[in-house]
Amino acid sequence: MVELRGVRKSYGTVEVLKGIDLRVARGEVVTVIGPSGGGKSTLLRCVNLLEPVTSGQVLLENEDLTAPGVDLDKVRRRIGMVFQQFNLFPHLSAIDNLTLAPRKLLRMSRDQAYERATTLLDRVGLAGKADAYPRQLSGGQQQRIAIARALMMDPHVMLFDEVTSALDPELVSEVLDVMRDLARSGMTMLCVTHEMGFARELGDRLVFVDSGVIAEQGRPADVLDRPQNDRTRQFLRKVL
Ligand code: ATP
Ligand code: MG
Repeated sequence: MVELRGVRKSYGTVEVLKGIDLRVARGEVVTVIGPSGGGKSTLLRCVNLLEPVTSGQVLLENEDLTAPGVDLDKVRRRIGMVFQQFNLFPHLSAIDNLTLAPRKLLRMSRDQAYERATTLLDRVGLAGKADAYPRQLSGGQQQRIAIARALMMDPHVMLFDEVTSALDPELVSEVLDVMRDLARSGMTMLCVTHEMGFARELGDRLVFVDSGVIAEQGRPADVLDRPQNDRTRQFLRKVL
């Protein structure tokens, strides 16, 4: 489904990703953990080429996105992304946040877009908030709107970058519940997260990224309970 082959990324003379090989199979949930500055967000942003890679290949459903002539705008419609900061349009109601992109990019009709948006708002538990503006919603509600907005485009894979990190602790679980439903529905997911419980319960694989390399990966319980790498051990000692 998604494959990174020997991906390297430099900013100026600083190499942030130093040869990442990673495959996410269809329906697989892969979680990424690791210390701050290790390259997790950069890795995620390389998947949809929000960051152009310095070398290596990025494949989506066997299509090489790094090949010349690829229409990235089109490709990105197959990749949903949700960030730590919800990035909703502040001047649009919840439902208009959802319908904007599909109406513009997919030329979905107004009725069809609203119908789909209504279904998705219901799915994330916000059926009653269609007309609310972001400032009228809690962080957890805004983040669920952001997830529903990404789902509007019917993505084949979803990328999550620490989507619960900006939330008050009591709001984290409502967002994780939505992600749990999504994972169980068979969505292919690549999630950078601090939520070790989520990684353990829902991740098919856990990847530890440190200093621009995948230092360790495996079944979540194996990596969390019996880390093989010293740096993984040190990191887990701090966060668990
Ligand atoms: P965190 O857990 O704090 O989110 P991270 O693992 O997501 O960290 P990245 O954001 O990928 O780490 O950053 C990796 C390194 O790349 C850092 O040293 C960062 O300063 C650097 N970096 C990231 N984006 C840029 C940029 N646009 N220009 C220059 N350096 C950058
Ligand atoms: Mg980050």
